[in-house]
Amino acid sequence: MHEMSVAEGIMRIAVDAMNKNDCSTIKTIGLRLGEMSGVEIEALTFAFDVIKRDTPARDARLKIDRIPITAQCNRCSKTFRVERYNFLCPECDGVLILQTGRELQVEFVDVE
Ligand SMILES: [Zn+2]
Repeated sequence: MHEMSVAEGIMRIAVDAMNKNDCSTIKTIGLRLGEMSGVEIEALTFAFDVIKRDTPARDARLKIDRIPITAQCNRCSKTFRVERYNFLCPECDGVLILQTGRELQVEFVDVE
């Protein structure tokens, strides 16, 4: 499962942040997750719950910010929310260039 390695990466970042702050508990991990990131929230939450046992994040929760897919037209420069992976401009038939939606980032780690 792809989400398992994603969860492990998130855990590494969170533990690093905890150590840098001389803390011993991870409370919340904030994530930015694009709709095109290829990560399923349910699977990721499940994977995280599995690996967090016996770690300083055992009581931690994930706060997930879903980032919608937006793109800008290469002809008329307007920005649109992309629906159903349609990357043609609804106004001029130009090609839409992806701007947001691929995010897979740890935004913050709340430690104690
Ligand atoms: Zn356009």
